[in-house]
This record gives sequence, C-alpha cells and structure tokens, in this order.
Amino acid sequence: MKKASPNQIERLPLYLKTLKLLKDENVLIVSSAYLANELGFSEEQVRKDLQLVSKKAGKPKTGRSVNLLISDIEDFLGYKTVNEAIVIGVGNLGHALMSYQGFNNYGLNIIAGFDIDENKIGTTIAGKPIYDINDLEKIEDNLHTKLVILTTPSDKTMEIYHRLKKMDIKAIWNFAPIHLKDNSKKIIIENVDLATLFAKLSHKIKEKECQ
Ligand code: NAD
Repeated sequence: MKKASPNQIERLPLYLKTLKLLKDENVLIVSSAYLANELGFSEEQVRKDLQLVSKKAGKPKTGRSVNLLISDIEDFLGYKTVNEAIVIGVGNLGHALMSYQGFNNYGLNIIAGFDIDENKIGTTIAGKPIYDINDLEKIEDNLHTKLVILTTPSDKTMEIYHRLKKMDIKAIWNFAPIHLKDNSKKIIIENVDLATLFAKLSHKIKEKECQ
C-alpha cells in the first residue's frame, strides 16, 4: 500500500464528502480542477492525492469516475473493513458517540459500552449494552474487539489504559485529556483533542481582527 502523508489523510475524507454530494446529484465524472476549486486546494495537490488512492491511472482531460473514486478512497482509508469498537466511559461524550449512526459509513461499528456507574450498567444505548467496567477483560474475551474508544475522566484513564495494554487490543481512540503513547508500538493510539482543533480557528479569528 502506498504511503500517505498526514495532510493527505486529512484531505481524503473531504474529497469523499464532495464526491458523495456529486453522486447524489447523479454526476458521473469529476475533474481535479472541480475538486480543487470546491475545496480550495491546488489542482496539482488534488491530482497527486487522487493518484495515490486510485487503482486506475487518470487520463488527462477526461476526468475520473465519481463512483470509482469513492470506492478507491473508501478502500484506501480502510472504511470497507468494519472495525468493531467498544466505548469505555459512557457519559456525555461516550453516549453521543454510541448514539451516532453515521459511523457506519466509515466502517466503525460500536457494539458495547463499559462504565463504572451502577445506574448505567445493564442499560442500553441505541440498542447496545452497557457492561460493568470490572468485567472488561472477561467480556472482551468473548467480544474480541480490536478498537477501544476511551471517554473516561482524565484521572481514571491511566488505570484503564494499563488494563488495556495487557489485553489483545489493536487500537485506542483516546478522547480523555491525557496524552497516551505506547512505546512498544503494539497499540495504535490516536489522541483526540478538540481544543487543539479550536486553536486553529481561534488563531484565524485573531489574525482577521489584526488585519
Ligand atoms: P462524563 O463525566 O459525562 O462521563 C464520564 C463517564 O465515565 C461517566 O459515565 C462515568 O461514570 C464513567 N467512568 C468514570 N470512571 C470510570 C471507570 N473507571 N471506568 C469506566 N467508566 C468510568 O464526561 P464527558 O463529558 O463525557 O467527558 C469524558 C472525557 O472526555 C473526559 O475525560 C473529558 O475531559 C473528555 N473530553 C474530551 C474532548 C476532546 O476534545 N477530546 C471533548 C470533550 C470531553
């Protein structure tokens, strides 16, 4: 598989969103120029990105098939492989993630949640069971989930992480405000911080105000 830069990975879902809108309007062919104009990227950048993911080389001036591009990008991003996941910490954020149906479009299927709160244990969210965190290892033995979404309070996160390291977990999507890293590289970790993303917006607002 060809290697993509982090910036390319960030751009691919944006192409996908635009291509799906075109598909909804029954558009069959799209040009790099159109995508560049819609998304504010250079044409050369778009061409390079599409070359990276496309199984079939594009022909100059003929454009590319919208359906084929959608399929190639989904394949490249791994959306076609369904990743089953569990959520640990079913509070505000965990509840919202478990309820969101849109993840199915990205090959993400949340199958259960775990919490410490007795009022939540034994209930369901969007038809998915909430189990006792004390039973994590036992239940995971049956679920065989490879992906864990961590939405626990920060002071509880390290303890859960140490437990996960002893289990057969492939990846952690960590929303708790603690930067997790696995030096052994056994577990793929993606730390998410919306505040960091807001820094981009905040800085742009400041720049505009200073003009
Ligand atoms: P919350 O308090 O509503 O939910 C936390 C849940 O974790 C509760 O249901 C609680 O019972 C459960 N919990 C506590 N200890 C546990 C344990 N040992 N095992 C399992 N479950 C346990 O909090 P929230 O608003 O949903 O936020 C969750 C986390 O996400 C926090 O760490 C918060 O700082 C973080 N957060 C991150 C972002 C981001 O951008 N990454 C945005 C919002 C919130």
